[in-house]
Parts: sequence; C-alpha cells; structure tokens
Amino acid sequence: MEGTKDVIIIGGSLSGLMHAIVLKSLGHNVRILERSSPELLRSQAAGLGTGGELQQLIDEYVKPESPYCTTLGAIEWINKDGEIVGQFGPSRPFYLSTWSIVYRLCKSALLQPAPGSSAKPAIYETGQLVKSVHPSGSKINVEYLDTVSQQHHALEADLVIAADGGNSTIRRSLHPEVAPQYSGYVTWRGAVTESEVSEATRKVLHGRTIMTRMEAGYIMSYYVPAENGSLSPGDCQYIWVWYQMLPEGEEFNSNLTDADSRQHTTTIPRGRMREEIWAKMRARGRKHLSSPFVDLLEHTHDPFLSAIRDCKSPKAVFHDGKLLLVGDAFSLFRPHAGAATSQAARQALSLVKVLKGDMSLEAWETEAIDHAQRIHAFTNAMGSYCFTGVVPPILAALLPTANEAMEQTKD
Ligand SMILES: Cc1cc2nc3c(=O)[nH]c(=O)nc-3n(C[C@H](O)[C@H](O)[C@H](O)COP(=O)(O)OP(=O)(O)OC[C@H]3O[C@@H](n4cnc5c(N)ncnc54)[C@H](O)[C@@H]3O)c2cc1C
Repeated sequence: MEGTKDVIIIGGSLSGLMHAIVLKSLGHNVRILERSSPELLRSQAAGLGTGGELQQLIDEYVKPESPYCTTLGAIEWINKDGEIVGQFGPSRPFYLSTWSIVYRLCKSALLQPAPGSSAKPAIYETGQLVKSVHPSGSKINVEYLDTVSQQHHALEADLVIAADGGNSTIRRSLHPEVAPQYSGYVTWRGAVTESEVSEATRKVLHGRTIMTRMEAGYIMSYYVPAENGSLSPGDCQYIWVWYQMLPEGEEFNSNLTDADSRQHTTTIPRGRMREEIWAKMRARGRKHLSSPFVDLLEHTHDPFLSAIRDCKSPKAVFHDGKLLLVGDAFSLFRPHAGAATSQAARQALSLVKVLKGDMSLEAWETEAIDHAQRIHAFTNAMGSYCFTGVVPPILAALLPTANEAMEQTKD
C-alpha cells in the first residue's frame, strides 16, 4: 500500500473517526460519509469504556489537553440492602468516559489542520447514506444518497473503510449470512448528574462501579465525567445499565415500540420511550433494587433501551484489499466488557503498520479475526457470569472468588 490514497470511510462514529485520524496522520486524503445527523448520534450516547488500545490511540493521535475519563477500580456487587457481597478488579488499567466526549475529541482531532501535511483537510459529511460499494479496475466506487437533498452521488477511492456499525449494510452485501443474533436480553440505560441525587446515594455510588444481581437480570452504575469533561464532584455523571432477560415476543415488541408507535429492532433512542413502559420499569426497580439505584432511575430524564445482539465476520478484507470491514461492522460484541471500541482502535493501529509496510494485510486480517474470536468468547462468558454468578472456566483466573454464592433478589 504505497502513495497518497483517497480514502472513503463509511460511518462517522468512533471506528470511522479513529481510522480517519490514523490515515490522515499518514498523509492520506480522508472523507467520512455518515448517514445520521449529529443530534441523532447524540441521542444514543451514554458511558464508554476507554481502556486498552483505545487509550493508546487517544494518547498517540488525539492528545487531549485535559482529562476526559475516570479510572475503573474494583467492581463491587451489593445486595438489595446495600451491603457489599463480592468484588473483582479489572485485570489491567481501564478507564471510563462517555461516547459523546470521545466522539468530540476524535472529531476535533481529525478536523484540525495538520501543518506541513500534504494531505487535503479531512471531510466529515452527515446525512450521507451509503447504498453500495463495488470495485472498478484499480479503484473502488461508493454510491450514496444525500438524505437532505435526496440526490444520489458516486465517488471513486483507492481504499474504502466500512465502519458502518453492527447492522452494516456493507457486511450484509458481502456476507448476507452473518447477521447479528439476539442474545435474549436487553439493556435499559441512563445518565444522571451527581448533583441531582441524594447525599445517601452519593455516599454509596461516588467514584465507584457497583452492580446488583436479581432474577433474570443485573444492574450496574459507574462514574464518568460530565459531558463538558468536568471531573468535579457534583458535575460527574452516574451511568447506569440494567440488563434484563427478555425473550422475543409480545413484551419485547411492546418495549421496543416508541412514543410514535414505531417499532424498533435494536434501540429506542433517548426521549422516545413510552412513559408507561418507563413507569413499569421504575416500579420494578422500586421492588427489587437498593435505594441508590432507585434514586438513579427516578432522576433519569431520558432512558433508552437496546436489544443486545452479536455476530462476527469470517473476513475483514475484500476486493483485493480495497475494502476493509472494521469495528462493529466487522464483529459486534455484547457490551459486558466494554471491548467494542478497543477492537476498532486495535484495527486502526495495526492498519498504520500495514500502510508503513511493517505488516501484511493478510496478517492484519488474521490478527483481527483472532482477536474478535477471543473477545467474543470473553464477553459472552462475562455476561453469563454477571447474570448467574457462576464463573465460566475462561474467566477463572480473572474472577478467583466469584463462584461464592451471590445474593439474588427474586422477582
Ligand atoms: C450514536 C451512538 C452512540 C453510542 N453510544 C455508545 C455508548 O454510550 N457506549 C458504548 O459502549 N457504545 C456506544 N455506541 C456503540 C459504539 O460506538 C460502538 O460499539 C463502538 O465504538 C464501535 O463503533 P463503530 O463505529 O464500529 O459502530 P457504531 O458506533 O455503531 O457506528 C456506526 C456508524 O455508521 C453509521 N452508518 C451506518 N450505516 C451507514 C450507511 N449505510 N452510510 C453511512 N453511515 C452509516 C451510523 O450512523 C453510525 O454512526 C454508540 C454508537 C452510536 C452510533
């Protein structure tokens, strides 16, 4: 892979941005086509694990001027009475932030001028829905629709990065058989500013990651900066995530039907959940959860709901190396280990080696597939442990004491 390339990146979320940043730093011309508006993007955002390779990429390429994350300490299990009944620690340093903070940092790093670089300024366009990609001689063509003007366009590139997420149109066109499968559970999520909750709640949750298990579910709260990056107590946010087993069927469909009677397959964005559904969930919370979690639910203004799905693609390189699948478009993990964004960062950092001639594209693909397989097994095992308290063998080294019976509240 030599010379300055025209690169089109499909999808302007975190994987797309990270690939754009590293490609621009190598002097390539980068254009991101993102289908959503910035408002729609923000409407699904909450907390984000920023450990591993994501941290490395941010340190090397984004270089934020001020802190943007908190540090994950021990993860503690509490029962309904608020007593600690178990704990485990992260096996390596791990950090917590929010999707919006990391998105903002990456986007401004990408769009700031690079003095002395021969590359054209990066372009980030919203409202551009990519319809198809096909090779054309030594180039690759991208066809897309401007969703505002309703005009169809086509562009030619040397390299296309498909970073179009778990429901990737591009992956579907290449591998129709690799469809995300429903895990059997959903997550309810929300964010609450620390100053809004009671002093008693702060005493339990401040700076900590706390989880409570109940029948057919568990809930966690973790502590992240305010959306403006402030780490001052009171400004910071509690992100809560409630995992609930929910078979597909009537209740599933009803929960995923929004305030305008629109049925969603994956996510009801912030502000669109029906009030009666949220009221029912809060009532369940009052019955089963300890008071800090009840306080969080009561102070959540715009919860959102996602059906958890996963899949992995057997290939990441297509059309003689002119099309690469990255991030969730390549492999979609369940969210228990906060590993999705690190996968994308890892692919982006390895792509730098390929473009510098230090790694072959075949090795890049093999590394991505091996990593996805490992993380897939790990996150699914972590999910199983969090729901049941039983430690699968793959987690035995990480969770040495966790097989002890955890108290569960009953439905
Ligand atoms: C708005 C948003 C908020 C999120 N918030 C969180 C969070 O709070 N915590 C967390 O852990 N994870 C969150 N995620 C998921 C997280 O970003 C990913 O799991 C991980 O970072 C990998 O990202 P990705 O870029 O591969 O996929 P995604 O983040 O899913 O991004 C895919 C992008 O591609 C765009 N796209 C899809 N199809 C097309 C098309 N045909 N043409 C053009 N563009 C297209 C989508 O609009 C989206 O912006 C969020 C994702 C999104 C999109």
